[in-house]
Amino acid sequence: MRVLGIEGTAWAASAAVYDSTTETVSIFTDEYQPESGGIHPREAAEHMREAIPEVVGRARDSTDEIDVVAFSRGPGLGPCLRIVGTAGRALAGTLDVPLVGVNHMLAHLEIGRHRSGFDAPVCLNASGANAHILGYHNGRYRVLGETMDTGVGNAIDKFTRHVGWSHPGGPKVEAAAADGDYVDLPYVVKGMDFSFSGIMSAAKETYDDGVAIEDVCFSLQETIFAMLTEVSERALSLTGADELVLGGGVGQNDRLREMLETMCAARGASFYAPEPRFLRDNAGMIAVLGAKMAAVGDDISIEDSRVRPNFRPDEVPVTWRTGSDR
Ligand code: ATP
Repeated sequence: MRVLGIEGTAWAASAAVYDSTTETVSIFTDEYQPESGGIHPREAAEHMREAIPEVVGRARDSTDEIDVVAFSRGPGLGPCLRIVGTAGRALAGTLDVPLVGVNHMLAHLEIGRHRSGFDAPVCLNASGANAHILGYHNGRYRVLGETMDTGVGNAIDKFTRHVGWSHPGGPKVEAAAADGDYVDLPYVVKGMDFSFSGIMSAAKETYDDGVAIEDVCFSLQETIFAMLTEVSERALSLTGADELVLGGGVGQNDRLREMLETMCAARGASFYAPEPRFLRDNAGMIAVLGAKMAAVGDDISIEDSRVRPNFRPDEVPVTWRTGSDR
C-alpha cells in the first residue's frame, strides 16, 4: 500500500509517501519561520496555503501510485488544519482513493512503536504544544499523565523569546546548556501530571537577575527533563510495562534522550526514540499511521472529515492495534 500523508498542524507544511511493502518513507517539508516572536496562527496558515500544494506536488512526483490519502486532523491550529483538511479531501476525491483522518499526537507515538517493533510500550510525547505520557488499554490510548499548562516545547520557546532568541528556542537552549552549571529552579510534578509555568517564570527572573544564560539553559533542561523522566518511570512502574518510546520535537534533544535511556537501563526496560525526521512534525508519521488505519478500513467520508483543533489522543478508538495492553 502507498499512502500519501499530509501534515500541517502548526509550523511544518509537510507531505510524505509511505510504501508499506518496502517500508520506505519519503518526506517533503517546508517550514514556517516567524520573522519575530513565536508562531502566529494567521501567518502559519498563510504559509500552509502556499506550501502545502508545493510539498504535496513533490510527494506526488515521487511515486507513480497512491492508494490512500491520510491527513492530520488535529490537534493543532484551526486555520492551518482547515487548509490541510481541504487538501486531503481534494486529493482523495481527485484520485478516487480512501481518505483517513489521523490524530497528530497518536501519530507522534505510533511512529516510535512502529519503528521499534515494541509490542506494548508506554509512550512519552514531548512536543511543542503538548506533553503527555500515554499507555494503551482496552482499545484506547489512555493519558496517564500530562502537562497542566503549556506544552514542553512551547514552554522552552517562551523563555527564549524572553531573552530575544528567534524561534524555535529548543535547539538554542540545548547548545547553550553545554557550557552551563546548575542553579535552582522549581520542580513541579503532581502525581502523574506536571507543570511548566512556574519554572518558566523563575527562569526568566533568574536570567533578568543576571545569572549567565548558559546556567539558566542548563538548569531548565535538567529540571524539565527530570520531571518528564520521573513521570515516565512512574508510568512504567504502575503499568508494569518494560518498553518506552519517545515522540515529539523536543525528543530531538540529546540530554532528554540520555536521561530516559539511563532511567530505562536502570530498571531493565527498553527505550526507543525514532530518528529526528520522525520526531519533529512530519507527514511521514501521518502516512505510517494512515496506512495502519486504512488497512483495517478506518477511513472517513468527506462529510465526516471535519478537522478537530482540540482532538485529544484518548478520544480515538484504536482500530489498528493488536497485541497486549499497556
Ligand atoms: P505538537 O506536535 O504538539 O503540535 P509542534 O507542532 O510545536 O507541537 P514539534 O515539531 O513536535 O511541534 O516540536 C517543536 C518543538 O520542539 C519546538 O518547541 C522546539 O523548540 C522544540 N525543539 C526542537 N529541537 C529541540 C531540541 N534540540 N531541544 C529541545 N527542544 C527542541
